[in-house]
Amino acid sequence: MATIIDGKKISQTIKDELKEKVAEYKQNGVEIALAVILVGNDPASSVYVGNKKKACEYIGIRSLSYELPEETSEEELLTLIDTLNKDDSVNGILVQLPLPKHIEEKKVIRAISPKKDVDGFHPENVGALLIGEPGYVSCTPAGIIELLRRSNVEIEGKECVVIGRSNIVGKPMGVLLLRENGTVTVTHSRTKDLKEVCKRADILVVAIGKPMMITADYVKEGAVVIDVGIHRKEDGKLCGDVDFSSVEPVAGAITPVPGGVGPMTIAMLMKNCVDSISLLS
Ligand code: NDP
Repeated sequence: MATIIDGKKISQTIKDELKEKVAEYKQNGVEIALAVILVGNDPASSVYVGNKKKACEYIGIRSLSYELPEETSEEELLTLIDTLNKDDSVNGILVQLPLPKHIEEKKVIRAISPKKDVDGFHPENVGALLIGEPGYVSCTPAGIIELLRRSNVEIEGKECVVIGRSNIVGKPMGVLLLRENGTVTVTHSRTKDLKEVCKRADILVVAIGKPMMITADYVKEGAVVIDVGIHRKEDGKLCGDVDFSSVEPVAGAITPVPGGVGPMTIAMLMKNCVDSISLLS
């Protein structure tokens, strides 16, 4: 029986710590504001944006909401970002992805000032992460490190295998585990003998985007398994990239879906907003 790593509980602790910090800032006359931009009306994106705004409210961060119609042009969006970049009362800027097809995501990410890029997607922040300089770190992988740390999972010297090499999860995850002195392997769709590679892992982070693909035969007895995937099944329930009922009996510890990595992503976004005070100065 694996220990269940409770992301909901850990994220709540982090949000309460941040709430206290924000209250202290407020006493000293410092207010934190996050601008949240949503283009179009993708239902999943609307839910994510709603949750982010709720978290801001809980912690005491002011959220400025920009809900733009689907037909917003790239130029209009870039103009708004430019205005927010120049507005000293705005600490963080978040553009909810994905964007409508006629808007180039890369261009939008680059347009956000690296000092306000609380998602940690700007190339300057990605580069800073790689060379170990201060900057914003992508929220999901940062949240996973925090989950491991607060669950007393030691990373140093451990075999860490990441499945997936996306810019927002897999790649920064690999770098962060390396920074914690793990021995890291990042796998992807061209990896040979994926099962064998995964079976080496003491810590297995799964970010493939394939519902319940990872079963017990990918997992070493006692391994820590972190499931990043989120999918809605036909019965309306959520599941991850890991087949929980198959893996849980062999793993030493495992994150559930929901209630594992997901809530940590939002908590780390809030942390990045609070950290903007020191990063902006
Ligand atoms: P991407 O689709 O961008 O990346 C998936 C990665 O998995 C790619 O690198 C791909 O390899 C690799 N891959 C795909 N199929 C296989 C396979 N059969 N064997 C080995 N590797 C494979 O996904 P993301 O990283 O954006 O997200 C991953 C999952 O996490 C999704 O379910 C997403 O919804 C979820 N997610 C959850 C978050 C949260 O807060 N909990 C936040 C972000 C994402 P290749 O590069 O070769 O194509």
